[in-house]
Amino acid sequence: MKEPVVAANWKMYKTIEESVNFVEKLKKKPLDWDEVHIILCAPYTSLFEMGNSLRGDSFVNLGAQNLYWEQEGAFTGEISVGMLKACGVEWVIVGHSERRAGHKESNKMVRAKAEAAHKAGLRAIVCVGETSAERKRGKTLEVVGKQLTLSLPRNCIAKNTVIAYEPIWAIGTGLTPTADDVAEVHGFIRARLQRRFRDQGVNMRLLYGGSVKGSNAAELLSVRNVNGALVGGASLTVADFWPIVRTCI
Ligand code: PEP
Repeated sequence: MKEPVVAANWKMYKTIEESVNFVEKLKKKPLDWDEVHIILCAPYTSLFEMGNSLRGDSFVNLGAQNLYWEQEGAFTGEISVGMLKACGVEWVIVGHSERRAGHKESNKMVRAKAEAAHKAGLRAIVCVGETSAERKRGKTLEVVGKQLTLSLPRNCIAKNTVIAYEPIWAIGTGLTPTADDVAEVHGFIRARLQRRFRDQGVNMRLLYGGSVKGSNAAELLSVRNVNGALVGGASLTVADFWPIVRTCI
């Protein structure tokens, strides 16, 4: 059994105070945390204070939304794994479509970021997914397959890598694929991972992301080979996020 993961991607939302308030509220929720693993991927500015607030809590982990692959140097505006780790970060999202498209991140760059994360002992949530045009042309599996091949470093293991399938047309739109469509893509991803990483690929967790909310989480998370969710908009308040977490229990 893979313990499900529910990861929040806060994007460019929340001040330090708002972030810490969220954590404090979440920590008050009654739950047998052994059953689900929560990752809060917050803006850089919130990480240090959230790290302090989460210290000693092994079921809610801190995540970043990006990193740079160099350790230090003249890279204005970038952030290194060492800086993230010093804040208590354990996870990092790489290859989110908003970075692939909006910041021209190639598969090669995504791979370099995942590699840097792994080398430093961070765990990577590697995002893949097709555009609406690609789906309409029947190219979904081809696009996702290529992203997997080129974005994943050679030595990925189940402990340091989670794959998030996020159809780009479903992100922030309220649209979701059917359960059958999700099953098809996740089955394909699982087969690819198994072929490349053997047992590690069998045990890697695969998250679905794209307009997950309380009302659709149960259906999406019960699909075969879906081991949790990456949640954007519905992760911004504990009131919206909590019902999604509850579906994993
Ligand atoms: C995301 O940005 O990763 C995401 C899944 O967003 P949303 O849940 O808002 O569609």
